[in-house]
Amino acid sequence: MSELRNVARAIPPMYIDDRSPDGHILVCTGGGTEHSFARRHLGLSVECPICGQIALSVDLISEFYRRALPVWTGDTRDHHESEPP
Ligand SMILES: [Zn+2]
Repeated sequence: MSELRNVARAIPPMYIDDRSPDGHILVCTGGGTEHSFARRHLGLSVECPICGQIALSVDLISEFYRRALPVWTGDTRDHHESEPP
């Protein structure tokens, strides 16, 4: 378990590059190379057909929206006037 300690989430091995009517365009950086592939349905997890890297779809989607919508990270708190001290 402890060997996962240094594997930070700063650089995800896989991310959604774009979404299209045909599905999701995923970019994987597993194995030291960058390669992309398309998935029509993400399902619960996504396995890279090239290097076998597996990512959870919920991580991919949250990361995608975090990059697409910076406001989504919750800075609306500052505008809550009714919030008690
Ligand atoms: Zn891969």
